[in-house]
Amino acid sequence: MERVEINGLELRALSVGGLETCHWLPRWKVAFDIGRCPLPVVDCRTVLFTHAHMDHLGGIAYHTATRGLRRQPPPCYVVPHHCVDDLARLFAAWRALDGSDMEHVLVPLGPGEEHVLSNGFLARPFRSPHSTPCQGYGLWSRREKLKPEHHGRPGRELAELRRAGVELSDTLETPEFVFTGDTRIEVLEEQAVVREARVLVMECTFVDDRVSVAESRAKGHVHLDEIAARAELFHNEAILLTHFSARYRAHEIRAALDAKLPPSLRARVTPLVGAHERACATADSVPEDVESR
Ligand SMILES: [Zn+2]
Ligand SMILES: [Zn+2]
Repeated sequence: MERVEINGLELRALSVGGLETCHWLPRWKVAFDIGRCPLPVVDCRTVLFTHAHMDHLGGIAYHTATRGLRRQPPPCYVVPHHCVDDLARLFAAWRALDGSDMEHVLVPLGPGEEHVLSNGFLARPFRSPHSTPCQGYGLWSRREKLKPEHHGRPGRELAELRRAGVELSDTLETPEFVFTGDTRIEVLEEQAVVREARVLVMECTFVDDRVSVAESRAKGHVHLDEIAARAELFHNEAILLTHFSARYRAHEIRAALDAKLPPSLRARVTPLVGAHERACATADSVPEDVESR
């Protein structure tokens, strides 16, 4: 997995459009999607899954079984509601085939619901329009903040008020991180959290004319031209673009970003291209069909 630091946050990731995608935040002990299960992510107990395309979900059983072999606690998989029954059948089949317990916890979650992560953050799904049902996730931090009317009061007075049952603070929620999963560009207009999160991880499968915006949209993905045309909507402090097609070389992706994004946006964008040279070494054998997932 490639190690990148974005806004001071360590992220380990591997993402090539249609082939495999996995993003892991070690500090926050949470990962997003497991396409082919890179070994390091086995150590991550909580995984938020965006959709059931093979390049995002294919490694789930490998993750479960390997944690079992290592006697690590059962993993927790947050999944869209519609995946639950099929996943239960998948795990039953693997239990029989692999002869292992495949212990895990499935947490069905959808837009309007939330799941508390081990670091206290809230994970809230939102709809990402893609070629199959897909949901992104916003991660929100929470902290208590003294209400303005109590500012300047001595500690003794605050303690008395607290004893008298007065509510002294407001809960402040901050959207720290967003992972869009696979999506069309509309997610940017439809979901305020995508525009406002401090760190945004967004897919950008296509970057130049080899695949047109119309073709990209038909495949359910984002084209770099669509990002450039909406540059002013990105209020994020830092943006990681991922899920680039294996048809591009890393230097081509960087050149396209430099040429198409206005400097104010380009300065905040990091492309995840570390895996691309390896993927491109076998690009002749990568059928273009896989780009539609
Ligand atoms: Zn994908
Ligand atoms: Zn997909």
